[in-house]
Amino acid sequence: LVSSDFKKTETVIDIKGVKIGGGNVVVMAGPCSVENREMLMYLAERTRKAGAKILRGGAFKPRTSPYVFQGLGEEGLKYLREAADANGMLVITELMDPRDMDLICEYTDIIQIGARNMQNFRLLKDLGTVRKPVMLKRGLSATMKELLMAAEYVAAGGNDEIILCERGIRTFETETRNTLDLSAIPVLKSMSHLPVVADPSHGTGRRDCILPMSQAAVAAGADGLMVEVHNCPEEAFSDGDQSILPDDFDVLMKRLNIIAETI
Ligand code: PEP
Ligand code: MN
Repeated sequence: LVSSDFKKTETVIDIKGVKIGGGNVVVMAGPCSVENREMLMYLAERTRKAGAKILRGGAFKPRTSPYVFQGLGEEGLKYLREAADANGMLVITELMDPRDMDLICEYTDIIQIGARNMQNFRLLKDLGTVRKPVMLKRGLSATMKELLMAAEYVAAGGNDEIILCERGIRTFETETRNTLDLSAIPVLKSMSHLPVVADPSHGTGRRDCILPMSQAAVAAGADGLMVEVHNCPEEAFSDGDQSILPDDFDVLMKRLNIIAETI
């Protein structure tokens, strides 16, 4: 169902007038974790002004250690919805557990499935039954075929509004957190009709790589980007090292427009 043999034309997902797929670059921006209401209201306003259409933020966080911040839960979802509505944005947030499906669906426009849950087949089957677009992030050591088979689970259940996200894979390299596999963008787009976006934040783990890798992803044909933005990265509850300041995000968006015009 997700292969380009099955459907020849590129899928465009229309969410309240925001179209994902088919060439235009849609940017999702916001903090790694929702930390409090004020930061989210501020970041929504700043990223929207710069041109982001979708507000990201984790309310349920998949953390490596069980002893660190796990997310604000429903309180975080409320702040996301409020900040997005106040600025005319959509919300994307991560669902980790099928038991939270109804709660997440109440607040979000797009359900994010994180890299660590890409092959949580029970979760994928449940996503087939909901009427919300899903963004599926590539697993830390998943092949492109495995990512597409994960998407197939969702589509087979009856939900064909799926966005694929390249977010870096594990390699032997240690200078970057993950290796952003830019070749996945054109390859996935030829194997599948689904929109493909890139996440240079988790893909590199380094603030200084966000601008160049965003430009590179767009040049490679990405239908969108997911970028972590924080008002005070040094004090971020999670992923501060890879979060950029709102001012840097302004620059990134300006540069992206230049690239978009020239390809
Ligand atoms: C995230 O986007 O917040 C996240 C946890 O990303 P990933 O699942 O790609 O690690
Ligand atoms: Mn993060």
